[in-house]
Formats: sequence, C-alpha cells, structure tokens
Amino acid sequence: MVQIKLPDGSIKEYPQGVRPREVADGISRRLADATVAAIADGTIVDIDRPLENGTEQPIELRLLTSKDREALDVLRHSTAHIMARAILRLFPGARLAFGPTTATGFYYDVDLPGRPLSEDDFPAIEAEMGKILKDAEPFERFSLPVAEARQFVEDLGQAFKVEHIDDELYKYGVLSFYRQGEFVDLCRGPHIPHAGKVGAYKLLSIAGAYWKGRTDGQVLQRVYGTAFFEKKDLDAYLAQVEEAKKRDHRRLGKELGLFTISSLVGSGLILWMPKGATVRGVLENFLKDELLKRGYQPVYTPHIGKIELYQTSGHYPYYKDSQFPVLRMLDDAAMALIGGLEKDELDEPGQKVLLAKAGIPETMPLLVNASGEPGSSVLHYWSLDKAGKIKYVEEHGVSEEYLLKPMNCPHHIQIYGAQPRSYRDLPVRLAEFGTVYRYEQSGELSGLTRVRGFTQDDAHLFCTSEQVRGEFRATMELTQFVLNSLGLTDYKLRLSKHDPEDPKYAGALGETWLRAEADIRAVLDEMSLPYEEAPGEAAFYGPKADFIVRDCIGRQWQLGTVQLDYVLPERFGLEYTGPDNQPHRPVMIHRAPFGSMERFMGILIEHFAGAFPLWLAPEQIRVLPISDKVADYARRVLNDLHAAGLRATMDLRPEKIGSKIRDAQLEKIPVMLVVGAKEAETESVSFRDRIDGDRGALPLVDAIAQLKAEAETRAIRQVAAPVALAPAEGHAQSHEY
Ligand SMILES: [Zn+2]
Ligand SMILES: [Zn+2]
Repeated sequence: MVQIKLPDGSIKEYPQGVRPREVADGISRRLADATVAAIADGTIVDIDRPLENGTEQPIELRLLTSKDREALDVLRHSTAHIMARAILRLFPGARLAFGPTTATGFYYDVDLPGRPLSEDDFPAIEAEMGKILKDAEPFERFSLPVAEARQFVEDLGQAFKVEHIDDELYKYGVLSFYRQGEFVDLCRGPHIPHAGKVGAYKLLSIAGAYWKGRTDGQVLQRVYGTAFFEKKDLDAYLAQVEEAKKRDHRRLGKELGLFTISSLVGSGLILWMPKGATVRGVLENFLKDELLKRGYQPVYTPHIGKIELYQTSGHYPYYKDSQFPVLRMLDDAAMALIGGLEKDELDEPGQKVLLAKAGIPETMPLLVNASGEPGSSVLHYWSLDKAGKIKYVEEHGVSEEYLLKPMNCPHHIQIYGAQPRSYRDLPVRLAEFGTVYRYEQSGELSGLTRVRGFTQDDAHLFCTSEQVRGEFRATMELTQFVLNSLGLTDYKLRLSKHDPEDPKYAGALGETWLRAEADIRAVLDEMSLPYEEAPGEAAFYGPKADFIVRDCIGRQWQLGTVQLDYVLPERFGLEYTGPDNQPHRPVMIHRAPFGSMERFMGILIEHFAGAFPLWLAPEQIRVLPISDKVADYARRVLNDLHAAGLRATMDLRPEKIGSKIRDAQLEKIPVMLVVGAKEAETESVSFRDRIDGDRGALPLVDAIAQLKAEAETRAIRQVAAPVALAPAEGHAQSHEY
C-alpha cells in the first residue's frame, strides 16, 4: 500500500502505483476532470504517473488545476510540444533542440531544412496547432534504456537530441519520452493529460539562438509562444504586451533624453544623461534623507577589491561565471618569466608580439591566468627554450589580483571590522549607493533592466541576535515606505529559503539557517503580511524577504529585498564585546529597497509611461512667454521658481504658443506656466497642468506655493490609464533533462 497525504492533512491508503488521477477521482469526478497535473513530494508529475512510496513517510500530494500557477507551466510546455508537432507536420525533416517554458510562455528551438521559418509561417502553424487541440489526443509517457533511446531519436532524425544524449543524458540509465499521436519527443515531462486542455495559444516571435548556448555552435531558430487555460487570459496578456511596448523604457529613455548606451563605453553600461541623472538624483536624495532619519550612516567604498576579500566572503568563486575576469598585477619575477615584456605590453597586442617572435599561432594562449592560494598565482605559458623550441612552462609566482566589485557587503564588513565594537554601538547601519559589476552575456542585456554595471541602494546592518527581529522589521517598513511613495502599492512577499538539495547552500546549512528563516517568518507574521515560501531562492549566505511588485499594467517585478545573514559575520570573524565583556558574533541584515537604481528606473519609466509625477520629473515646470515683449516677466517667473527649489526652464523660441505647449506635452512636462501681457501686469500666470489641463490664471505666489507643496509631499496624482490586468505570471522552469 501507499500512503498519500493531501494538503488538508488527511492521509489515505491506496494500492502501490496509484495515479494522481485516481486520487482525484476518489474525491470527486469534477476534481478528476479539472486536474491537469500534481505535485508529489515537491515534484510536478503527470496525472497518470504511478505513485510509489520510497520511504516510510506518506507521499505529500497536491492536485493542480487551471487555478494553480504551476499548472500554467505544464500547460505551456505541453503547448511547446504541440507547436513542434505542427511544425513537423508542415516541415517534415525539421530538427528540434530544446523547448522549455519562460515566465510568460514557452519557446522551442528548431532547425528547418531548406529555408528558415518566418513569422509569415505563424498562421499556418497556429492553424495546424488548432487541429491538434481539437483532436485532444493524450500525452503518453514511456521510457527506454539509454542505448535504445539513442537509437530511437536517431531513427526519428533528431540529431540534436542524439547529441544531447551523448553529451549529458547518457548518465541516466533510462530516458523518458512523450507520445502524442504520431509525434514523439524525448522529454522529462510533465505534461497535461491531453491537448484539449489548452484554452488559448499564440505564437509571438522568432529569434536566433545558439545550440546549447555555445557561441561557436549552430544558430537555431527560437520560436516563442504563449498559452493559457482561458481565452480571456490570453487577451489580457496580449493587451498587456501592447501596453508594455508603448511604455518601453528603452524607447522612452531615448525620446525623453534620460539615458544612453555607447558601444565605445560598452554594452550594458549605462550613461545617465542630465534628465535621467536628475530623476535618479531625486530618488537617491529621497532615500538618503529617509536613511538619516532612521539612524543609518553613510559610507563610500571603491569599485574594486582584492580577490582574497571575495574568496573570504564566498562571492568568488560563487559568482565567477558572471564576473568580469580577474585583474592581475604581475610581480617582477613573473614579468621576467614571460620574456622581458614591459608590464604595459602584457595586453593582447603585447602577447601577439611575443607569439610572433616564437612563431606560435595567435590562437594558442601565451599566458593563461589561473589562481592558486590567495596571494600566490600559477602562470601557465609558452616559451622558447635555448634551442629555440617551444616549451610549456608552469611557474608559481606572486601577484595581486583584483575583481570589479560583485557586491558591496565585503567592503562594508571591513568598515565594521575597522574598529572595536561594543554592544552599546549596535546596531551599526552602513549605507552606500554602491556600484557593482556583472558580466552578463551580451544576448541577455536589455536597456536598464539587464546591465553589466549597476548601483545598489545598499545598506548593511550589524546587530545583536536580540535586535534581529526589530531591525528586520524596521527595514521591511522602510521598503514599504519607499515603494508606497512611488505608487507601487500592489505587492506581495516571498520568503526565499534554502533548498537542502542544492549544493549552493552546502556548508551554510544547519541551525542558524533555520533560525534565520524562523526570524523572517516571525516578522512577516507580526506585520500581518501575507507571503509565500520559495525554497531554493535564498542568497548563498542567508534567507530573504523579497517584495514582488505589480506595476500598473500587471507585470510583476522583484524589487526591494531584505536578507538575513548569519554566515558572512562568521566567515569574516566579526565581533562585538557584549555586556559580559566577552566577544560575540553580530548578525547582518542586507537590504536594498530599490534593488538596482538602473533596473528600478527602468521599471519606473514604464510604470509612469515616462510621465513622472511632479516631485520626480526632471523638468517640473516650463515657462512659456506668449511673445518677446514679456520676456522680462517670464525671466522673473523662472527666477522665482528656481528660488523656491523647483526645476524649471523657459521656452523663448519665436514659436506660436500652441506649438510651445505641444512640445512641452510631448516632453511630458508636468506643468506649463503661460505668461502674456495680462499676466505680467497682474503678477500672475496661466496655469496648465498635464493632468488637469488648463486651470486658468493664478497669482504667481499662489502658483509657486501650490507647486512647492505638491513636490514636497511627493504627490502622485496619476499613474496612467489603467488597463485590464493580465493574470499572474508563471515561473520559468525547464522541463528538459
Ligand atoms: Zn515535454
Ligand atoms: Zn550585502
């Protein structure tokens, strides 16, 4: 027998190999019809997957219906199979690579014989998919021993799948397949019971993609699509995509002169133009003022640090693959080894000189960096021996190695540790807008949201274990305050926990982790904040609470995050002297309400569709004189605005007032003050508001007082026209082996 425990806590016995479908059927016929997949002991499975007890424990089973987020992923991945099947019907000989889900849909990488696929083919493919849906054939799972599986996919003519088995899958003894009618695909699953469960689908776009992401590999075509259980959800999603296009921060950023990217500076490295820098500066000052009120102290730290620092913290090698390469300063001995080149010749051209001297092809590495113990290094290089023959040399030398800062924490830890600390000094709260660097793949870069250098509104709190909950709560409240101030009031919380099976958390597990997770849970409960728990989403040094914010068109973004960390204080041996005169270990809290300034600005630009509220707008007010005759009065208005601390400009061009107004509108300037002879005479302004339109004449002093009050209270009077909210996003995951 097998014991099954359902989410309501009830435990029932079933024969071995019972299927989730049968468990559902035992509850009600309707539930069995509605069930599309199940989660058994944390793993998503087909509803016809036999369940067997591996341990004494009952199997924890959750049945998934169209209401569950996890079910949407299963549906979308199954739709990827349906699309692949339709493509194969229309283009026999098409070869398939990978077909996982994304946060909003799915894709399948394909290679067509003869000609590339284009979006013009979408109607035909979608029509074919429609036929497959109508037939509503089941997805049937079967397994083959790996050798037979390889032969099977070879017979299918699926060369990429053969290669994938040879590369990676051979280590599994048995591989699973899913059959749907004439179409069979190598896949781990799970899938929906039959194609008829797909309520609505759409193919979206095509992009190039490298086979297995290898930049020297074959270029495949990645066909993107999405699917939903209900047509209305697809419609809402497509409306959201349309709306998002209109608000795209990359386009608005250019149109409004907020930021630019120069290929000469480098991809993913943001250049803030004066207007964008103004908005960012306002945000930074807003937060800095708030931090001072809340007992934070400012610090500044450099953009690089020695590699030993990050080895101690664990950021290296943890982030190794996404970092810029190590900056290595060679010592004299090492320099002598590589043939007397001057230090500044040690760049690419310098290496080429030596390679040419030695007659070594340029593709062969002359000097390969490899680090040994901290402070030492191993040099691998090619050299010429006395007889003029090329030889391979490995030497140990001493060098200094630096990294571009991947995180600010280790630097702040050094500031904490720079002086003796007593319990009376705690909590110490160190804040910095610190810029950090990641080497994201160029294909991943996108506007402000995926960049290679970004500034975190970072702070680290060092406190006693008794202070943890209070400090954690205060940082949560700060994050709420910041998000609310920007009109981002629709958010939910995620408690990101460790995953005991993930090697990333190895060595960091144990009592302190569980304690940290319990602390966060207690704070969230105390604040009556609803949250969901997400195993495997924690940082490598501790669990965290993440704010998942919904913008005004319903898209979800992970913004502010607060992390609790018992690990780094241990690694760096941080201490404070307790009331008992003994050394104690402080606890660290990492927090960043905006997260990254770049990404946050990108989200804000889209949230406000470029029309920032008065307090954030780079240019708050434009003074528009009707003619040259009132230029002096216009100048006086401008001066008074500046004196009141408002950001204003004046349009003195010899244009008609109508076109001056139109230009200011296009630039999304919140307020226009029109002045003519009558206004000059009465010391007034004609007040045009972006939201309320023409508000008529106002005495100048009143207008300035009103504007000042609106900016100082950080009023957000309008975000943008609301649109139908699309349903919650799925969670990108791979169904591949
Ligand atoms: Zn599949
Ligand atoms: Zn940190």
